[in-house]
Amino acid sequence: MGMLSRFYCETAIEGSTARLDGSEAHHLLHVLRGQVGDEVLLFDGHGAEFTARIENCARSEVMLQVLARHDVDRELSIILTLGVSLPKGERQRWMVEKCVELGVHSLVPLVTKRSVAQPTGKALDRLRRAVIEASKQCGRNRLMAISEPQHWHSWCRTSCTADAYVAHPYPCENTPTVTLDELHLRYARSSAMISMAVGPEGGLTDDEIEQVTAGEGQLLSLGPRILRVETAAIVIAAWGSSIG
Ligand code: SAH
Repeated sequence: MGMLSRFYCETAIEGSTARLDGSEAHHLLHVLRGQVGDEVLLFDGHGAEFTARIENCARSEVMLQVLARHDVDRELSIILTLGVSLPKGERQRWMVEKCVELGVHSLVPLVTKRSVAQPTGKALDRLRRAVIEASKQCGRNRLMAISEPQHWHSWCRTSCTADAYVAHPYPCENTPTVTLDELHLRYARSSAMISMAVGPEGGLTDDEIEQVTAGEGQLLSLGPRILRVETAAIVIAAWGSSIG
């Protein structure tokens, strides 16, 4: 038997009842044709999942009885924060979905000199919705955070620690460039907090690269071919997922 259908509950599940409304209730009632007595899995984004039984269905709300709590951790051991100068349109959503599946802890939209898509409140809401959809599908019980957009200089100031890496396709003088292979050795079986960043389609400027190397940050090469923003993000996320 496959996994029970999963539903995201916005309010933390604490007592013996839970309630779904909005798109989650719609999905359960009108897409999956849930009925009183059916069992589903609920998660509230705080780490656990719950088996629950439908008690009562209204037009756009479902009341459930919580039967059991399961503490199932499907997170990586490392804490990977990925800063990305977001690509445009559908590629943005696709990238978010893959980052959720691969276990990225949080995503920071970066505002750089050559960024194309400045995420507005509405766009961020859509991406956060995409996080929920992907988490329902892949079984993650914690939501990947999507933070407010951060300017490059502020990211460099706050995140350029010794565990920070900025993907850059070109070697820079006097600055060592690491590869994911080397980082694998460094972080295998660790629970380090790692920050990585991917620049915009137009690339990071010399000035932006200098801000990285002025701090403790290092440059990261992903090979001799130039990858699109979302490909670079996914290569990094897949690396994180391979560390475990
Ligand atoms: N035209 C740009 C290319 C940018 S690619 C330029 O010449 O700089 C978009 C982003 O993806 C880059 O800023 C970098 O962060 C990442 N990236 C793409 N290919 C890469 C590679 N081979 N190694 C490291 N980072 C890469």
